[in-house]
Amino acid sequence: MNTDNRKILVIGGGISGLTAALEAAEAGAQVIITEKAPYLGGRVAQLHRYFPKLCPPTCGLEIQFRRIKENPNVQFYTMAEVTQVSGTAGNFDVTVKVHPRYVNDRCVACNACAEACTEFRVNDFNFGLDKTKAAYIPFDYAFPQKYVIDKSRCSGDCGQKCLEACKYDAIELHMTPQTLTFNVGAIILASGWEPYDIARADNLGFGMVANVVTNMQMERLAASNGPTGGQILRPSDQQPPKKVAFVQCAGSRDENHLPYCSYICCMASLKQVTYLMEKDPEAEATVFYIDIRSPGRYEQFFWKVRDMENVRIVRGKVAKITQEPGTDNVVVVAEDTAVGDKQSMTFDMVVLASGMVPSTKASPFPLPLSYTPDGFIIQELLPPGIFAVGTLKGPLDVMKSNEDATGAALKSLIALGRS
Ligand SMILES: Cc1cc2nc3c(=O)[nH]c(=O)nc-3n(C[C@H](O)[C@H](O)[C@H](O)COP(=O)(O)OP(=O)(O)OC[C@H]3O[C@@H](n4cnc5c(N)ncnc54)[C@H](O)[C@@H]3O)c2cc1C
Repeated sequence: MNTDNRKILVIGGGISGLTAALEAAEAGAQVIITEKAPYLGGRVAQLHRYFPKLCPPTCGLEIQFRRIKENPNVQFYTMAEVTQVSGTAGNFDVTVKVHPRYVNDRCVACNACAEACTEFRVNDFNFGLDKTKAAYIPFDYAFPQKYVIDKSRCSGDCGQKCLEACKYDAIELHMTPQTLTFNVGAIILASGWEPYDIARADNLGFGMVANVVTNMQMERLAASNGPTGGQILRPSDQQPPKKVAFVQCAGSRDENHLPYCSYICCMASLKQVTYLMEKDPEAEATVFYIDIRSPGRYEQFFWKVRDMENVRIVRGKVAKITQEPGTDNVVVVAEDTAVGDKQSMTFDMVVLASGMVPSTKASPFPLPLSYTPDGFIIQELLPPGIFAVGTLKGPLDVMKSNEDATGAALKSLIALGRS
């Protein structure tokens, strides 16, 4: 094995990237992770609970974070993007741009900067459901446990207040972007997925009807570290909704939007029905679906939810969602294909099961890669020494993403051995 080139670059620090990085590092490779966000963990960190065990994301992620801390073979950079790649398997030259965090490693996450901060920013971690201070930590158990300053929101003397509040000399308002270069033998692409912009389906009311939320917003509403402290409250009046509709295939399996199935949405909605019932056993849930996709062992979870009291499963495609005149309630028009009639029903809140779009659709890698028409990477056509994992190749759940990541770690090690 070429010992000079036992280095692997992993682009994306979500569950797939972390797993691939750790498996390769624990087998002896040197691994560099570049993550665009200010924290590791990806979308899983935003879930309230996740399949298959329905445990909170901390239960899987904290183990990964500990493995990273304990392994000197892993180096990671947050707020980092690969801007250039050249070379071939065994000898890739990579340029990485690290954006300034304006907070250095002396940060102890004491919150003093946020307390002193007078400016606010839209909280992207909570999908716009609330705001944070311009000096913020993305979420309570974020790794690394370091604040970030959104300098685009700073104004007047607020920077000075922030500096004065920090007893640890951790604020660096003049931090500049850094350019790093690495030579690696293999590259693992793990930049995951983005939620589909469901506002494009204007018949579904998102962005126009206050109490229409997405499935990822529902995860944040249920999460104890979310915008409502874990109470499911509808956005218009912060009241707990009694009647909630879950609309499957919102934009998915639709040639005008996403012509594919996002694999996990049915299971995510069924899981969210249980969130609702746990908070309020008297609540009523109606799931509108075209076909329920509950692959493999997930079928039993479908049966469990289907048979719960106060749960109605309606086979029918939703045609229109509007606000009920004079109230904050939401009217759903759907065709019940089991009985063949069009129905109009009123709910307190609607959750749209919007699908997954590969992250490369919005920001492609600086590499000549082959994509499906929907933007997913085609593994078979990747150049030697480059591997893709997880949801970048197609919608997947965590378990399958992890299996795929372990496979990619092994393939990368083999590629290093050949170089
Ligand atoms: C509503 C909903 C609920 C779900 N619930 C479950 C569940 O209960 N159980 C389950 O198994 N699955 C669930 N999933 C699916 C789960 O979210 C995915 O399987 C998982 O996120 C895949 O991980 P990933 O690492 O492939 O991608 P991601 O989680 O998207 O991670 C990718 C990482 O790459 C980073 N990145 C993006 N671009 C770049 C770049 N250019 N450079 C560097 N970094 C970059 C991102 O910031 C992110 O950190 C759910 C999905 C949805 C939509």
